[in-house]
Amino acid sequence: MWPAYRCFVDTPDLRAGSLTLDQAESLHLVKVRRAGPGEEVAVLNGHGQVGVARLVSAGKRDVVLEVERVETLPPPVPEITLAIGGLKQAAWDELLRHAVELGVNRIVRVQSDHAVADVQAGKEEAKLSRWREKMVQALKQSANPWMPELVIADSVGRALERLPAANLQVVGAFSATATIRTEVNQAPPGAITLWVGPEGDFSDSELSRLREAGARLVSLGPRILRAETAALAMVAAVRLVLCKP
Ligand code: SAM
Repeated sequence: MWPAYRCFVDTPDLRAGSLTLDQAESLHLVKVRRAGPGEEVAVLNGHGQVGVARLVSAGKRDVVLEVERVETLPPPVPEITLAIGGLKQAAWDELLRHAVELGVNRIVRVQSDHAVADVQAGKEEAKLSRWREKMVQALKQSANPWMPELVIADSVGRALERLPAANLQVVGAFSATATIRTEVNQAPPGAITLWVGPEGDFSDSELSRLREAGARLVSLGPRILRAETAALAMVAAVRLVLCKP
């Protein structure tokens, strides 16, 4: 059972002992969540470590915790990579939240041919940092010990080059007759990549490129889903229904 109070620290190496939270985390814990001295707090670092801590002092700028012990939890399996065309800000924020809550291992934002929202050259780091803040909120909310890796790829080809080996790749496509269930049943994945087109869909040449790379086209039913809904449906199907560890 997770404690009601959870916080995030940006370190790959969480250790037992005294821990002072930064201003943003302190403010959130004390002012927004109203945690007080003596409360139990879970400390997440996004690298699978969870600290079991007590709140010692509740300054609004510098909360001090005593981390009693640190546990390490395994990353979610199967390993899910979500590769998705660029979306407008509100839809993208929603997608990030869902992906963190459902335990996606990696998110690749693909600057696809018909994407409605590309990341301008030179703005990548600023965007990644803003998106990471959204993901930290979702991580704390959902008590997910693992922060998904977040990557921007400037084309489908580049995304394919950067992806780790997956024994199954599926693309949401209206023309498909197969479903994720049939594909997963044929080849139960240790790692799966889920491709979702942008609002304007993948172009024909992108779809051909994905098929050449071994991706299987799958239907998500007769309705035209928004890209973020399609992504949510695919991840939920894999994580919660088809491939439960
Ligand atoms: N522009 C398209 C249209 O209006 O016909 C809609 C594209 S849809 C918003 C974005 C992506 O979601 C698609 O490229 C596809 O990957 C996925 N998608 C949405 N509904 C789907 C469905 N019923 N089956 C498979 N994939 C779907």
